[in-house]
Amino acid sequence: MENSIEMFDVIVIGAGIMGSCTAYQTSKRSQKTLLLEQFDFLHHRGSSHGESRTIRATYPEDYYPKMVLKSETLWREAESEIGYKVYFKTSQFDLGPTDNKALQSVISSCEKNSIPVRVLDNKQVFDEYGGLIQLPENWVGVVTEYGGVIKPTKAVSMFQTLAVKNGAFLKDNMEVVEIKKVEGGVLVSVKSGEVFWGKKCVVTVGPWMKKLVKSVTGIVLPIQPLETTVMYWKIKEGYESKFTIENGFPTFASYGEPYIYGTPSLEFPGLIKIPVHGGRLCEPTDRTWTPTVSLDPLKQWIQEKFGGFVDSTKPVMTQSCMYSVTPDEDFVIDFLGEEFGEDVVIAGGFSGHGFKMGPIVGKILADLVMVGEAKDVELMYFGIKRFEKNPKGNLKEFDDQVSSAHSLS
Ligand SMILES: Cc1cc2nc3c(=O)[nH]c(=O)nc-3n(C[C@H](O)[C@H](O)[C@H](O)COP(=O)(O)OP(=O)(O)OC[C@H]3O[C@@H](n4cnc5c(N)ncnc54)[C@H](O)[C@@H]3O)c2cc1C
Repeated sequence: MENSIEMFDVIVIGAGIMGSCTAYQTSKRSQKTLLLEQFDFLHHRGSSHGESRTIRATYPEDYYPKMVLKSETLWREAESEIGYKVYFKTSQFDLGPTDNKALQSVISSCEKNSIPVRVLDNKQVFDEYGGLIQLPENWVGVVTEYGGVIKPTKAVSMFQTLAVKNGAFLKDNMEVVEIKKVEGGVLVSVKSGEVFWGKKCVVTVGPWMKKLVKSVTGIVLPIQPLETTVMYWKIKEGYESKFTIENGFPTFASYGEPYIYGTPSLEFPGLIKIPVHGGRLCEPTDRTWTPTVSLDPLKQWIQEKFGGFVDSTKPVMTQSCMYSVTPDEDFVIDFLGEEFGEDVVIAGGFSGHGFKMGPIVGKILADLVMVGEAKDVELMYFGIKRFEKNPKGNLKEFDDQVSSAHSLS
Protein backbone atom coordinates (compact mmCIF):
# COMPACT_ATOMS: atom_id res chain seq x y z
CA MET A 1 0.00 0.00 0.00
CA GLU A 2 1.22 3.47 -0.82
CA ASN A 3 2.14 5.68 2.12
CA SER A 4 0.18 8.63 0.72
CA ILE A 5 -3.15 6.87 1.22
CA GLU A 6 -4.89 8.13 4.33
CA MET A 7 -5.80 5.36 6.78
CA PHE A 8 -8.87 5.03 8.99
CA ASP A 9 -10.31 2.51 11.43
CA VAL A 10 -13.78 2.93 9.94
CA ILE A 11 -14.92 4.49 6.66
CA VAL A 12 -18.65 5.24 6.52
CA ILE A 13 -20.15 5.80 3.05
CA GLY A 14 -23.32 7.94 2.87
CA ALA A 15 -24.14 10.79 5.26
CA GLY A 16 -27.89 10.45 5.74
CA ILE A 17 -29.20 9.71 9.23
CA MET A 18 -27.78 6.16 9.28
CA GLY A 19 -24.25 7.09 8.21
CA SER A 20 -24.15 10.18 10.44
CA CYS A 21 -25.28 8.16 13.49
CA THR A 22 -22.69 5.49 12.70
CA ALA A 23 -19.86 8.01 12.38
CA TYR A 24 -20.97 9.52 15.70
CA GLN A 25 -20.89 6.09 17.39
CA THR A 26 -17.56 4.90 16.00
CA SER A 27 -15.82 8.23 16.68
CA LYS A 28 -17.25 8.27 20.20
CA ARG A 29 -15.61 4.89 20.73
CA SER A 30 -12.23 6.31 19.66
CA GLN A 31 -12.19 4.88 16.15
CA LYS A 32 -10.51 7.09 13.57
CA THR A 33 -13.58 7.62 11.38
CA LEU A 34 -14.13 9.03 7.89
CA LEU A 35 -17.65 9.89 6.67
CA LEU A 36 -17.99 10.30 2.88
CA GLU A 37 -21.01 11.88 1.16
CA GLN A 38 -21.55 12.08 -2.61
CA PHE A 39 -23.47 15.40 -2.54
CA ASP A 40 -23.35 18.44 -0.22
CA PHE A 41 -23.98 17.60 3.42
CA LEU A 42 -27.68 18.01 4.35
CA HIS A 43 -28.77 17.87 0.70
CA HIS A 44 -32.41 17.17 -0.24
CA ARG A 45 -31.92 14.34 -2.74
CA GLY A 46 -32.13 11.29 -0.46
CA SER A 47 -34.29 10.23 2.49
CA SER A 48 -33.10 12.13 5.54
CA HIS A 49 -33.96 15.76 4.82
CA GLY A 50 -36.98 17.87 5.71
CA GLU A 51 -38.90 19.07 8.71
CA SER A 52 -40.51 16.09 10.41
CA ARG A 53 -40.38 12.35 10.91
CA THR A 54 -42.64 10.33 13.18
CA ILE A 55 -41.28 8.32 16.07
CA ARG A 56 -43.68 5.64 17.30
CA ALA A 57 -43.34 2.27 18.98
CA THR A 58 -46.49 0.83 17.41
CA TYR A 59 -45.42 -1.78 14.89
CA PRO A 60 -47.28 -4.89 13.72
CA GLU A 61 -43.93 -6.74 13.89
CA ASP A 62 -43.00 -7.37 17.51
CA TYR A 63 -39.23 -7.00 16.89
CA TYR A 64 -39.31 -3.26 16.20
CA PRO A 65 -40.77 -1.73 19.41
CA LYS A 66 -37.76 -2.65 21.55
CA MET A 67 -35.49 -1.04 18.96
CA VAL A 68 -37.60 2.12 19.08
CA LEU A 69 -37.37 2.27 22.87
CA LYS A 70 -33.57 1.89 22.74
CA SER A 71 -33.41 4.52 20.01
CA GLU A 72 -35.52 6.89 22.08
CA THR A 73 -32.94 6.76 24.87
CA LEU A 74 -30.15 7.41 22.38
CA TRP A 75 -32.01 10.39 20.85
CA ARG A 76 -32.22 11.91 24.31
CA GLU A 77 -28.54 11.22 25.02
CA ALA A 78 -27.46 12.95 21.80
CA GLU A 79 -29.72 15.93 22.53
CA SER A 80 -28.17 16.38 25.92
CA GLU A 81 -24.65 16.16 24.42
CA ILE A 82 -25.40 18.85 21.82
CA GLY A 83 -27.60 21.04 24.01
CA TYR A 84 -30.65 21.49 21.76
CA LYS A 85 -33.78 19.54 20.87
CA VAL A 86 -34.53 17.61 17.70
CA TYR A 87 -37.24 15.34 19.16
CA PHE A 88 -40.64 16.70 20.21
CA LYS A 89 -42.65 14.20 22.18
CA THR A 90 -46.38 13.59 21.96
CA SER A 91 -48.55 10.49 22.04
CA GLN A 92 -49.13 8.16 19.07
CA PHE A 93 -52.61 7.47 17.73
CA ASP A 94 -53.17 4.50 15.39
CA LEU A 95 -56.55 4.01 13.80
CA GLY A 96 -58.24 1.64 11.42
CA PRO A 97 -61.07 -0.80 10.81
CA THR A 98 -61.63 -3.08 13.83
CA ASP A 99 -60.84 -6.17 11.74
CA ASN A 100 -57.63 -4.81 10.18
CA LYS A 101 -55.01 -7.51 10.76
CA ALA A 102 -52.05 -5.15 10.87
CA LEU A 103 -53.73 -2.97 13.50
CA GLN A 104 -54.63 -6.04 15.53
CA SER A 105 -50.97 -7.07 15.34
CA VAL A 106 -49.96 -3.59 16.51
CA ILE A 107 -52.01 -4.11 19.67
CA SER A 108 -50.59 -7.56 20.38
CA SER A 109 -47.03 -6.46 19.59
CA CYS A 110 -47.37 -3.59 22.09
CA GLU A 111 -48.70 -5.97 24.72
CA LYS A 112 -45.84 -8.40 24.08
CA ASN A 113 -43.36 -5.55 24.53
CA SER A 114 -45.05 -4.23 27.71
CA ILE A 115 -46.05 -1.00 25.98
CA PRO A 116 -49.30 0.23 27.55
CA VAL A 117 -52.06 0.64 24.95
CA ARG A 118 -55.54 2.06 25.18
CA VAL A 119 -57.98 0.76 22.58
CA LEU A 120 -60.84 3.25 22.07
CA ASP A 121 -64.12 2.99 20.21
CA ASN A 122 -65.35 5.87 18.07
CA LYS A 123 -67.17 7.65 20.91
CA GLN A 124 -64.14 7.45 23.19
CA VAL A 125 -61.93 8.79 20.36
CA PHE A 126 -64.31 11.74 19.93
CA ASP A 127 -63.99 12.54 23.65
CA GLU A 128 -60.22 11.92 23.77
CA TYR A 129 -59.52 14.52 21.06
CA GLY A 130 -62.39 16.91 21.72
CA GLY A 131 -64.10 16.01 18.46
CA LEU A 132 -61.07 16.80 16.29
CA ILE A 133 -60.73 13.15 15.23
CA GLN A 134 -63.86 11.27 14.20
CA LEU A 135 -64.04 7.56 13.41
CA PRO A 136 -66.76 5.43 11.83
CA GLU A 137 -68.49 2.94 14.14
CA ASN A 138 -66.52 -0.05 12.87
CA TRP A 139 -63.13 1.63 13.48
CA VAL A 140 -60.97 1.70 16.60
CA GLY A 141 -58.27 4.00 17.85
CA VAL A 142 -55.13 2.83 19.64
CA VAL A 143 -53.34 5.30 21.90
CA THR A 144 -49.79 4.78 23.13
CA GLU A 145 -47.46 7.08 24.99
CA TYR A 146 -44.50 6.69 22.64
CA GLY A 147 -45.07 9.12 19.80
CA GLY A 148 -43.41 12.27 18.61
CA VAL A 149 -41.80 14.29 15.88
CA ILE A 150 -38.11 14.35 14.99
CA LYS A 151 -36.72 17.15 12.85
CA PRO A 152 -34.68 15.27 10.25
CA THR A 153 -32.27 17.81 8.76
CA LYS A 154 -31.56 19.25 12.20
CA ALA A 155 -31.04 15.72 13.58
CA VAL A 156 -28.60 14.70 10.84
CA SER A 157 -26.70 17.93 11.40
CA MET A 158 -26.62 17.19 15.14
CA PHE A 159 -25.03 13.77 14.66
CA GLN A 160 -22.51 15.14 12.15
CA THR A 161 -21.55 17.92 14.56
CA LEU A 162 -21.16 15.44 17.42
CA ALA A 163 -19.06 13.17 15.20
CA VAL A 164 -16.74 16.08 14.35
CA LYS A 165 -16.51 16.93 18.05
CA ASN A 166 -15.46 13.31 18.64
CA GLY A 167 -12.69 13.69 16.06
CA ALA A 168 -14.33 12.20 12.95
CA PHE A 169 -13.36 13.45 9.48
CA LEU A 170 -16.28 14.46 7.26
CA LYS A 171 -15.92 14.99 3.50
CA ASP A 172 -18.75 15.84 1.10
CA ASN A 173 -18.97 15.89 -2.69
CA MET A 174 -17.13 12.56 -2.60
CA GLU A 175 -18.93 9.92 -4.64
CA VAL A 176 -17.60 6.47 -3.81
CA VAL A 177 -17.16 4.46 -6.99
CA GLU A 178 -15.21 1.45 -5.74
CA ILE A 179 -14.65 -0.61 -2.60
CA LYS A 180 -11.83 -3.13 -2.96
CA LYS A 181 -10.71 -5.83 -0.53
CA VAL A 182 -7.02 -5.59 0.37
CA GLU A 183 -4.84 -7.17 3.03
CA GLY A 184 -6.15 -6.09 6.46
CA GLY A 185 -8.99 -3.91 5.22
CA VAL A 186 -10.54 -2.18 2.21
CA LEU A 187 -9.63 0.54 -0.27
CA VAL A 188 -12.38 3.05 -0.95
CA SER A 189 -12.07 5.11 -4.14
CA VAL A 190 -14.02 8.24 -4.98
CA LYS A 191 -14.89 9.66 -8.40
CA SER A 192 -12.36 12.50 -8.13
CA GLY A 193 -9.59 9.92 -7.84
CA GLU A 194 -8.86 10.02 -4.10
CA VAL A 195 -8.39 6.69 -2.34
CA PHE A 196 -8.78 5.92 1.38
CA TRP A 197 -7.82 2.83 3.36
CA GLY A 198 -10.17 1.54 6.01
CA LYS A 199 -9.79 -1.35 8.39
CA LYS A 200 -13.57 -1.60 8.25
CA CYS A 201 -16.24 0.00 6.08
CA VAL A 202 -19.95 0.73 6.62
CA VAL A 203 -22.19 1.34 3.61
CA THR A 204 -25.30 3.42 4.35
CA VAL A 205 -26.18 4.81 0.93
CA GLY A 206 -30.00 4.72 1.16
CA PRO A 207 -31.68 4.56 -2.27
CA TRP A 208 -28.27 4.11 -3.95
CA MET A 209 -27.61 0.80 -2.14
CA LYS A 210 -28.63 -1.54 -4.96
CA LYS A 211 -26.46 0.36 -7.45
CA LEU A 212 -23.33 0.52 -5.27
CA VAL A 213 -23.50 -3.07 -4.01
CA LYS A 214 -24.05 -4.34 -7.56
CA SER A 215 -21.07 -2.42 -8.87
CA VAL A 216 -18.83 -3.66 -6.02
CA THR A 217 -19.86 -7.33 -5.78
CA GLY A 218 -22.23 -8.07 -8.67
CA ILE A 219 -24.89 -8.99 -6.09
CA VAL A 220 -28.33 -7.54 -6.86
CA LEU A 221 -30.12 -6.75 -3.60
CA PRO A 222 -33.93 -6.42 -3.64
CA ILE A 223 -33.77 -2.86 -2.36
CA GLN A 224 -35.87 -0.64 -4.59
CA PRO A 225 -35.80 3.19 -4.57
CA LEU A 226 -39.20 4.86 -4.40
CA GLU A 227 -40.22 8.47 -4.94
CA THR A 228 -42.86 9.79 -2.56
CA THR A 229 -44.50 13.09 -1.64
CA VAL A 230 -44.93 14.85 1.68
CA MET A 231 -48.11 16.95 1.83
CA TYR A 232 -49.15 19.79 4.08
CA TRP A 233 -52.80 20.83 4.48
CA LYS A 234 -54.28 24.05 5.85
CA ILE A 235 -56.06 23.93 9.18
CA LYS A 236 -59.25 26.00 9.14
CA GLU A 237 -59.07 29.42 10.75
CA GLY A 238 -59.57 29.41 14.49
CA TYR A 239 -58.56 25.74 14.93
CA GLU A 240 -54.82 26.02 14.24
CA SER A 241 -53.68 25.70 17.86
CA LYS A 242 -55.84 22.63 18.50
CA PHE A 243 -53.66 20.50 16.20
CA THR A 244 -50.42 21.23 18.06
CA ILE A 245 -48.36 19.11 20.43
CA GLU A 246 -48.90 21.71 23.16
CA ASN A 247 -52.61 20.93 22.99
CA GLY A 248 -52.04 17.18 23.06
CA PHE A 249 -52.44 16.41 19.35
CA PRO A 250 -50.74 13.08 18.52
CA THR A 251 -48.65 11.73 15.69
CA PHE A 252 -50.91 9.30 13.83
CA ALA A 253 -51.16 6.41 11.40
CA SER A 254 -54.27 5.09 9.71
CA TYR A 255 -54.27 1.40 8.74
CA GLY A 256 -56.01 -0.07 5.71
CA GLU A 257 -56.21 1.32 2.22
CA PRO A 258 -54.68 3.83 1.84
CA TYR A 259 -52.13 3.86 4.66
CA ILE A 260 -52.03 7.48 5.84
CA TYR A 261 -49.79 9.02 8.47
CA GLY A 262 -49.10 12.43 9.87
CA THR A 263 -47.67 14.72 12.48
CA PRO A 264 -49.17 17.54 14.56
CA SER A 265 -48.90 21.12 13.34
CA LEU A 266 -45.33 22.05 14.23
CA GLU A 267 -42.90 23.12 11.53
CA PHE A 268 -45.27 25.40 9.58
CA PRO A 269 -47.85 27.20 11.76
CA GLY A 270 -51.41 26.58 10.62
CA LEU A 271 -50.43 23.59 8.45
CA ILE A 272 -50.60 19.89 9.26
CA LYS A 273 -48.59 17.16 7.51
CA ILE A 274 -50.79 14.37 6.16
CA PRO A 275 -49.19 12.25 3.41
CA VAL A 276 -50.46 9.02 1.96
CA HIS A 277 -48.24 5.98 1.79
CA GLY A 278 -46.66 4.75 -1.38
CA GLY A 279 -45.30 6.38 -4.42
CA ARG A 280 -43.57 5.62 -7.65
CA LEU A 281 -40.78 3.07 -7.93
CA CYS A 282 -37.86 4.90 -9.50
CA GLU A 283 -34.14 5.13 -9.98
CA PRO A 284 -32.39 8.03 -8.23
CA THR A 285 -31.68 9.42 -11.70
CA ASP A 286 -35.25 9.37 -13.05
CA ARG A 287 -37.34 11.16 -10.45
CA THR A 288 -40.31 13.29 -11.47
CA TRP A 289 -40.30 15.55 -8.36
CA THR A 290 -44.08 15.77 -8.77
CA PRO A 291 -46.85 14.29 -6.54
CA THR A 292 -46.74 10.52 -6.82
CA VAL A 293 -50.06 9.30 -5.40
CA SER A 294 -53.73 9.79 -6.14
CA LEU A 295 -55.16 12.53 -3.93
CA ASP A 296 -58.84 11.61 -3.88
CA PRO A 297 -58.76 8.91 -1.16
CA LEU A 298 -56.60 11.17 1.00
CA LYS A 299 -58.94 14.15 0.60
CA GLN A 300 -61.88 11.97 1.57
CA TRP A 301 -60.01 10.60 4.60
CA ILE A 302 -59.13 14.10 5.81
CA GLN A 303 -62.70 15.31 5.36
CA GLU A 304 -64.15 12.35 7.26
CA LYS A 305 -61.60 11.86 10.03
CA PHE A 306 -60.78 15.48 10.83
CA GLY A 307 -64.40 16.57 10.96
CA GLY A 308 -64.07 19.47 8.55
CA PHE A 309 -61.42 21.27 10.64
CA VAL A 310 -58.77 20.80 7.94
CA ASP A 311 -59.26 22.10 4.40
CA SER A 312 -59.27 18.93 2.29
CA THR A 313 -59.61 20.59 -1.12
CA LYS A 314 -55.86 20.49 -1.87
CA PRO A 315 -52.48 20.30 -0.16
CA VAL A 316 -51.01 23.78 0.17
CA MET A 317 -47.42 22.56 0.08
CA THR A 318 -45.67 19.43 -1.17
CA GLN A 319 -42.11 18.12 -0.88
CA SER A 320 -40.50 15.32 -2.87
CA CYS A 321 -38.54 12.63 -1.07
CA MET A 322 -37.05 9.27 -1.94
CA TYR A 323 -36.55 6.15 0.11
CA SER A 324 -35.82 2.52 -0.53
CA VAL A 325 -38.04 -0.48 0.09
CA THR A 326 -37.48 -4.20 0.53
CA PRO A 327 -40.19 -6.75 -0.40
CA ASP A 328 -41.05 -7.36 3.28
CA GLU A 329 -40.33 -3.77 4.35
CA ASP A 330 -37.83 -5.03 6.90
CA PHE A 331 -34.37 -3.48 7.05
CA VAL A 332 -31.18 -4.98 5.63
CA ILE A 333 -28.39 -4.86 8.22
CA ASP A 334 -25.67 -7.41 7.55
CA PHE A 335 -22.07 -8.12 6.65
CA LEU A 336 -21.58 -7.80 2.92
CA GLY A 337 -19.84 -11.18 2.77
CA GLU A 338 -18.20 -12.46 -0.43
CA GLU A 339 -14.51 -11.51 -0.44
CA PHE A 340 -15.26 -8.72 2.08
CA GLY A 341 -16.25 -11.13 4.84
CA GLU A 342 -16.94 -9.08 7.97
CA ASP A 343 -14.90 -6.06 6.87
CA VAL A 344 -17.83 -4.36 5.16
CA VAL A 345 -21.27 -3.92 6.74
CA ILE A 346 -24.29 -2.68 4.81
CA ALA A 347 -27.47 -1.07 6.18
CA GLY A 348 -30.32 -0.09 3.88
CA GLY A 349 -33.85 -0.82 2.73
CA PHE A 350 -35.29 1.14 5.64
CA SER A 351 -38.59 1.08 3.75
CA GLY A 352 -39.91 4.45 4.80
CA HIS A 353 -39.78 3.82 8.54
CA GLY A 354 -36.11 4.04 9.46
CA PHE A 355 -35.51 7.57 10.64
CA LYS A 356 -36.60 7.04 14.24
CA MET A 357 -34.20 4.08 14.37
CA GLY A 358 -31.13 6.07 13.26
CA PRO A 359 -29.41 6.15 16.66
CA ILE A 360 -29.92 2.44 17.40
CA VAL A 361 -28.90 1.48 13.84
CA GLY A 362 -25.73 3.58 14.21
CA LYS A 363 -24.96 1.73 17.43
CA ILE A 364 -25.62 -1.67 15.83
CA LEU A 365 -23.34 -0.83 12.89
CA ALA A 366 -20.57 0.37 15.19
CA ASP A 367 -20.89 -2.87 17.18
CA LEU A 368 -20.75 -4.96 14.00
CA VAL A 369 -17.57 -3.37 12.70
CA MET A 370 -15.88 -3.12 16.08
CA VAL A 371 -16.81 -6.38 17.82
CA GLY A 372 -18.38 -8.45 15.05
CA GLU A 373 -21.82 -8.69 16.66
CA ALA A 374 -24.61 -6.39 17.77
CA LYS A 375 -25.18 -6.34 21.48
CA ASP A 376 -28.76 -6.51 22.84
CA VAL A 377 -30.40 -6.48 19.39
CA GLU A 378 -31.73 -9.43 17.43
CA LEU A 379 -30.70 -9.08 13.78
CA MET A 380 -32.15 -12.34 12.42
CA TYR A 381 -34.91 -10.52 10.51
CA PHE A 382 -32.47 -8.18 8.74
CA GLY A 383 -30.06 -10.59 7.02
CA ILE A 384 -29.34 -10.47 3.28
CA LYS A 385 -29.76 -14.23 2.94
CA ARG A 386 -33.46 -14.17 3.82
CA PHE A 387 -34.21 -13.28 0.20
CA GLU A 388 -32.40 -16.39 -1.05
CA LYS A 389 -34.79 -18.56 0.99
CA ASN A 390 -37.84 -16.54 -0.04
CA PRO A 391 -37.72 -13.64 -2.53
CA LYS A 392 -40.50 -11.98 -0.53
CA GLY A 393 -38.34 -12.08 2.61
CA ASN A 394 -39.80 -12.47 6.09
CA LEU A 395 -43.27 -13.98 6.30
CA LYS A 396 -45.93 -11.71 7.75
CA GLU A 397 -49.40 -12.53 9.01
CA PHE A 398 -50.78 -9.17 7.99
CA ASP A 399 -50.28 -9.14 4.24
CA ASP A 400 -52.96 -6.48 3.90
CA GLN A 401 -50.35 -4.01 5.09
CA VAL A 402 -47.13 -5.30 3.58
CA SER A 403 -48.29 -6.12 0.07
CA SER A 404 -49.95 -2.77 -0.49
CA ALA A 405 -47.77 -0.40 1.45
CA HIS A 406 -44.36 0.11 0.05
CA SER A 407 -43.92 2.93 2.49
CA LEU A 408 -44.64 3.22 6.14
CA SER A 409 -44.12 6.25 8.27
C1 LIG B 1 -41.29 11.41 2.85
C2 LIG B 1 -40.67 10.50 3.85
C3 LIG B 1 -41.28 10.34 5.07
C4 LIG B 1 -40.72 9.51 6.02
N1 LIG B 1 -41.31 9.41 7.23
C5 LIG B 1 -40.72 8.69 8.20
C6 LIG B 1 -41.24 8.72 9.51
O1 LIG B 1 -42.24 9.39 9.77
N2 LIG B 1 -40.60 8.02 10.46
C7 LIG B 1 -39.48 7.28 10.21
O2 LIG B 1 -38.96 6.66 11.13
N3 LIG B 1 -38.95 7.25 8.96
C8 LIG B 1 -39.54 7.93 7.97
N4 LIG B 1 -39.01 7.96 6.71
C9 LIG B 1 -37.88 7.08 6.40
C10 LIG B 1 -36.54 7.65 6.80
O3 LIG B 1 -36.46 9.02 6.49
C11 LIG B 1 -35.44 6.84 6.12
O4 LIG B 1 -35.60 5.47 6.48
C12 LIG B 1 -34.06 7.29 6.50
O5 LIG B 1 -33.93 8.67 6.31
C13 LIG B 1 -33.02 6.53 5.68
O6 LIG B 1 -31.76 7.10 5.91
P1 LIG B 1 -30.46 6.60 5.15
O7 LIG B 1 -29.32 7.24 5.84
O8 LIG B 1 -30.49 5.11 5.04
O9 LIG B 1 -30.62 7.11 3.65
P2 LIG B 1 -30.33 8.56 3.01
O10 LIG B 1 -30.85 9.62 3.87
O11 LIG B 1 -30.82 8.54 1.61
O12 LIG B 1 -28.77 8.68 3.03
C14 LIG B 1 -27.95 7.99 2.12
C15 LIG B 1 -26.81 8.92 1.74
O13 LIG B 1 -25.84 8.21 1.01
C16 LIG B 1 -25.33 9.08 0.03
N5 LIG B 1 -24.71 8.27 -1.03
C17 LIG B 1 -25.34 7.47 -1.91
N6 LIG B 1 -24.45 6.88 -2.74
C18 LIG B 1 -23.22 7.33 -2.38
C19 LIG B 1 -21.92 7.10 -2.87
N7 LIG B 1 -21.69 6.26 -3.90
N8 LIG B 1 -20.88 7.74 -2.29
C20 LIG B 1 -21.09 8.60 -1.23
N9 LIG B 1 -22.34 8.85 -0.73
C21 LIG B 1 -23.39 8.21 -1.30
C22 LIG B 1 -26.57 9.83 -0.45
O14 LIG B 1 -26.27 10.99 -1.15
C23 LIG B 1 -27.28 10.07 0.86
O15 LIG B 1 -26.91 11.29 1.44
C24 LIG B 1 -39.54 8.79 5.73
C25 LIG B 1 -38.92 8.96 4.50
C26 LIG B 1 -39.46 9.82 3.57
C27 LIG B 1 -38.75 10.01 2.27
